[in-house]
Amino acid sequence: MQDYDDQFKDLAKDSPFQDSPVMPTLLDGDKVIQFRCHRHVKCWNACCSNIDITLTPYDILRLKNRMGLSSGEFLKQYTVPYEMDKDGMPGVKLRAVEGGTACQLMVPEGCSVYEDRPTACRYYPVALVSMRRQDEYTDRQSYALVEEKHCLGHFEDQKLTIDEYRKDQGVDIYDEKGRAWRQLVLKRKSAGPSIGKPTPLSNQLFFMASYDLDRFRAFVISESFNNTYEVPVDTMAEIVADDEKLLDFAMGFLRQVLFNEKFLEEKAGAAEARAERLRAKAEQMRAEFEANRDQLEDEKYSEHFRKLEGSG
Ligand code: SF4
Ligand code: SF4
Repeated sequence: MQDYDDQFKDLAKDSPFQDSPVMPTLLDGDKVIQFRCHRHVKCWNACCSNIDITLTPYDILRLKNRMGLSSGEFLKQYTVPYEMDKDGMPGVKLRAVEGGTACQLMVPEGCSVYEDRPTACRYYPVALVSMRRQDEYTDRQSYALVEEKHCLGHFEDQKLTIDEYRKDQGVDIYDEKGRAWRQLVLKRKSAGPSIGKPTPLSNQLFFMASYDLDRFRAFVISESFNNTYEVPVDTMAEIVADDEKLLDFAMGFLRQVLFNEKFLEEKAGAAEARAERLRAKAEQMRAEFEANRDQLEDEKYSEHFRKLEGSG
């Protein structure tokens, strides 16, 4: 089995981007880098003028709360959806300004949401590389250095370790809050055939629980959810009032739905009720199919008789 460094080099070798700015070497946290970004660098805001920033659920939680928006409003105004793998695992990126490549949140002074800026913005020019072996549950965290020509921070005289840089940028809390989701994503990407191909419905659920937290909250307090799952009263009170607790709950719920890992008790009779709903739905679809077929047959015969009358 390859080690992580080899895996990463293979990825870099196969990259379609010949001049990739990501140095194809995995680095540990104690690696010393030379970098400093400050208001007086000549390239000020160059990095935010051409963005490609993937958002984590915790990034969205912080930004939507800072802006006083619902998750739905934030997603609509500030993000674009994309697919994270060939099975359509949904991801979201920051949306650039209309007709351009610059971040909507950039102002001449820098970042207008600096205290709540996303994980990728905090890390830059370091990139977090999470990898997970199929025989391991948790991911391993390494780093890579991104050296882009426009970024002059690499020529500043400050030297520090990656761990010191992460601390300076307040990355720790973002890593901690994003860990459960990253592990979920890695597990889904590396899942074998036993998990099966995700359905469109499971992708929708993944999107809602990961990114559209306010809609997920409405789902959790709905009658149908509570008729299906046992949620302790204290837990329900916490997740209704606290976005971060709700996000933790959402990750547990997704592990149960996607990987069958026990998180919530199902209510007695819930499985039977669900099977009954599915049976009723299948029966309804069959009846609609039959009705359509009868209509098609009628139309076919009408056409046939019209032709016969025309030729008579
Ligand atoms: S969120 Fe802030 S730091 Fe990140 S790209 Fe936008 S302006 Fe730059
Ligand atoms: S030094 Fe790099 S990170 Fe700082 S403003 Fe310039 S391009 Fe952006």
